[in-house]
Amino acid sequence: MPYLPDTLPFPAPDMDAAEFWAHCRERRLMFQACGDCGTAQHPPLPVCPACQSTNRVWVPAPAEARVFSYTFAHHASHPAVRDRLPYNVAVIAFPALPGVKLISNVIDAAPSALAVGADVELAWDAGPDGLWLPRFRLLT
Ligand SMILES: [Zn+2]
Repeated sequence: MPYLPDTLPFPAPDMDAAEFWAHCRERRLMFQACGDCGTAQHPPLPVCPACQSTNRVWVPAPAEARVFSYTFAHHASHPAVRDRLPYNVAVIAFPALPGVKLISNVIDAAPSALAVGADVELAWDAGPDGLWLPRFRLLT
C-alpha cells in the first residue's frame, strides 16, 4: 500500500519539473545540475542560481541521504488522507549535492524513530497513473 493514497490530487508538473517527473516515472531519481559550473539544485530551474548558465544537465541522486527536517500532518488537508493521519513530511538532504533538498516522506518508520540527521535510503512508492514517487526509508 502506498504511503499516501493515489487518489490524492497530484499537481501538474510545470515546464521545469516535467523532466524530473519523467525520470521518476522510470524509477530514476535525478537532479538538475549546471552543465557549466556543476551546481545541482532542486526544484529544477531554467537558469543556474550560481552562474546564470542555461546549460542544464541531469545527474543521478547520490545514495547517501539524510533527514534534514520533518514534521507530522495531524489534520487532513484532503479527504484522501483522512485515514493516514498522522503522516510525516520530510525534507531530505544529499550531502554530496548541497543545493538539493527534496520534500518527501519517510515510510515504514515509527514517528518516534524519525530524527534530524537520520540516514535514509530511497524507496520508490507507487503513485497515480503509473508514476513512481521518491520516498525514503530509515537505514538501521
Ligand atoms: Zn552554474
